[in-house]
Amino acid sequence: MRNNAPLQNLDDALAQLLAAVQPLAQTESVPTAQALGRVLAVDVIAALDVPPGDNSAMDGYAMRAADVPAPGTVLPVSQRIPAGVVGQPLQAGTAARIFTGAQIPTGADAVVMQEQCEALAEADGAGSVRVQIKPMHGLSIRRRGEDVARGSAVLKQGTRLTPAALGLAASVGAALLGVTRRPRVALFSTGDELVMPGEVAPEDMPPGAIYNANRYTLSGLLQALGCEVTDLGLVPDQLEATRAALRVAAEGHDLILTSGGVSVGEEDHLRPAVQAEGRLDLWQIAMKPGKPLAFGVIGGGAGSTWFIGLPGNPVSSLVTFLLLVRPVLLRLQGVPVALLGMPRGLPLRSAFRRTKADSRREFVRARLDAEGHVTVYPNQSSGVLTSMVWADGLVDIPAGTLVEPGQTVSFIPMSFLQ
Ligand code: AMP
Ligand code: MG
Repeated sequence: MRNNAPLQNLDDALAQLLAAVQPLAQTESVPTAQALGRVLAVDVIAALDVPPGDNSAMDGYAMRAADVPAPGTVLPVSQRIPAGVVGQPLQAGTAARIFTGAQIPTGADAVVMQEQCEALAEADGAGSVRVQIKPMHGLSIRRRGEDVARGSAVLKQGTRLTPAALGLAASVGAALLGVTRRPRVALFSTGDELVMPGEVAPEDMPPGAIYNANRYTLSGLLQALGCEVTDLGLVPDQLEATRAALRVAAEGHDLILTSGGVSVGEEDHLRPAVQAEGRLDLWQIAMKPGKPLAFGVIGGGAGSTWFIGLPGNPVSSLVTFLLLVRPVLLRLQGVPVALLGMPRGLPLRSAFRRTKADSRREFVRARLDAEGHVTVYPNQSSGVLTSMVWADGLVDIPAGTLVEPGQTVSFIPMSFLQ
């Protein structure tokens, strides 16, 4: 591969990555409470209706609507039905005291909330209720099956399990969920200038040294995406050491992820190391930050392991991870390709001016101001990690584009990239 090969278009690169990787075949069954962030390998089928019967949406009184021809009607209270208790069939011309979530007694067809009723005590201790409205048939009743119908697939294979999805699975009684196994990812950083927090104190930093930020960012991103991470630490900027690290990392992993060493400098050894140990498929993408990116395979045949080499600049490695590695990891877990294309930004009004166009598509670190307009971090250098912590999103600016305040720009919230 030549160093001056034309840059890859980002969408094409993503499509190529997604076409290359296939979902992992192995699945496992995990307790629902522990399945957050995992991807369903099978549909969750409802074995019952939810709610299982008609129940009350309010604390109040259940009655027959026809027994209340006008506001002010008084009905004797014939029974009391808390949630979890099954009442008696409702006698005609009476009301049942009822509480939220309690099953509606047979014969009742409306619930009037207690704020619209007046409880009347009678001398003999029995109670009655004055209903202050004329209820409609069906008032304040949650219908059997209105959330989920028995037999329906409430969650489909390929769904990433959010807290809401776990709750829905639990609401149909699923105690265990079939999910794709976690991708096993080997992570290492390259860069002889890097030192580890805790190993070298800030006051003892040798000249030219910097802390290894990417190790923490990338490990965190991988964990948040459901991966099992093997952190192989730091590999020296030497071809042989890099080749050896790739061979070790290929054992027992689905993906090797690295940071640094993928540019064209003499100290950038990943590209030749990958070519020696496997195959390199692409490595320059028309995006900013993050032009150098390597994708390939280490080893051959069935035992081969995917390789993605991210640039060393902290913002570049983070942005390329979000846009290109995240979809690969979700694809490995079985999320459908259709859900993994470039996230569509929200059309929002710019509060910034961009006077210099770039020849690459740029992802600018941005935040919404009090009016909901898009502002950008003043220093967009790919080494300034502060910009990523500050940002709530990225503005996706096409190549060669200037921006005026008031113009519509495409804002990708960070939550689209989680
Ligand atoms: P490279 O991609 O190896 O040429 O690195 C590009 C820039 O990113 C250089 O300034 C490196 O010092 C810096 N860099 C590389 N790896 C890391 C890392 N793990 N943490 C923080 N900065 C890094
Ligand atoms: Mg380097």
